[in-house]
Amino acid sequence: MEVILRENDAADWVYRGEGAANLVLSYIGSSPLFIGKVMRIRKAPRSDVVTVRSPSALTAHERLLWKDVDELISSSDKEIAGRLFVQHVMKPLLGSKFVDAGMHVLVSTEFLESVEKDIICQRPPWRVDNAQVDTQCDSVLLMSDHSVFSHGNLECSSCISIEIKPKCGFLPNSRFISKETTIKRRITRFEMHQALKLHEEEISLQSEYNPLDLFSGSKERIHKAIKDLFTTPQNNFRVFFDGSIIFGGLGGGAEDTNFGIAKAFEDVLKSFIQANDGLCTESLLTLVAEALTKSGVLNQLLEVQKLDNVDIEGAIHAYYDITSQQCMVCRELGEEQAKKYTSLHSASLNESLRVVRDYLIAATAKDCSLMMCFRPRKDGGSGSEHNTVYLESTKQTFDFKADNSSHEPFGSVSVGRLVPA
Ligand SMILES: [Zn+2]
Repeated sequence: MEVILRENDAADWVYRGEGAANLVLSYIGSSPLFIGKVMRIRKAPRSDVVTVRSPSALTAHERLLWKDVDELISSSDKEIAGRLFVQHVMKPLLGSKFVDAGMHVLVSTEFLESVEKDIICQRPPWRVDNAQVDTQCDSVLLMSDHSVFSHGNLECSSCISIEIKPKCGFLPNSRFISKETTIKRRITRFEMHQALKLHEEEISLQSEYNPLDLFSGSKERIHKAIKDLFTTPQNNFRVFFDGSIIFGGLGGGAEDTNFGIAKAFEDVLKSFIQANDGLCTESLLTLVAEALTKSGVLNQLLEVQKLDNVDIEGAIHAYYDITSQQCMVCRELGEEQAKKYTSLHSASLNESLRVVRDYLIAATAKDCSLMMCFRPRKDGGSGSEHNTVYLESTKQTFDFKADNSSHEPFGSVSVGRLVPA
């Protein structure tokens, strides 16, 4: 059955958030087809609204890069290629239970124009200035709404979901890292980025969050990481209650957590966590840390991130070989210094392709979002297909599920973006 969303369907979709490349809308209508779904719509930059579509999704070099993934190279649209990339490349690597590739649904131009009009006042003004709904698209991506528990079933009990954008969880150790950039062996990219944002007054407080804590495997450090994310959520931490955001920012960074925000959050949690006054937030953070430890999702994500084992300073040489260009990095170096990269340049084409492919896959894993969804277990409920976690302090048991959204609804790395950073 071919479904096309038309102008009068637009009212059923409400603004959920956005990243650099996409808008995310959630469904409030009553069609069983869409209950429990979110929609991802591509954005177009304001300055050149009339963009020229490339007839084929992938360039010749991109097709070469992904030549072993038949489904990907035969796709004729960038948006569809993105979904196929998740389906056929990321999903097998991250584990199918953690990844949802979504499906495409056709939309009319009037639908997109109507959505654009409806949501404009909810979007952060700076986002509106930069981009709008790309009304030239003829399809959107439909995905399970990971912030609600049961899909297609409205009668489920309340649930709380946590979205974390964990970022890169290891320090690079490639021998190709130069003396000038050796700092990245000691300090995470996240922390350096924080220092830059502070310097540029994009943020007022540097986040205490350290991705190395979150990926450490130690329960105490994971707990610390979650607490730090709560204190300075920026665009790395959000909490939803039955699909509606109750903590963190939509579409951009959130302000630091002051007393008022913390109090309001604590109050909302009271109906969900049976802790003494003032302890609900702490209990929730404990719950998240326990579930993250139990699910194994972080280990899996870290493995995939670590496919980047030569760093951009190594991958860039393989990139120039694939595109048959003169290496711009080696050109700037003396003969002696360039020797370090001879092994990369003398590699076979297949080996160069592998290096760049792994680099791009890892980049996607470094920029993806993680969704944890919790629902209190009703008395006597058992035999659930979901994992459970027990909260000692409140004697409550929660069902939970973890999803890995490699579509990075709030991120920007996409398939085959064969462009070195
Ligand atoms: Zn080179």
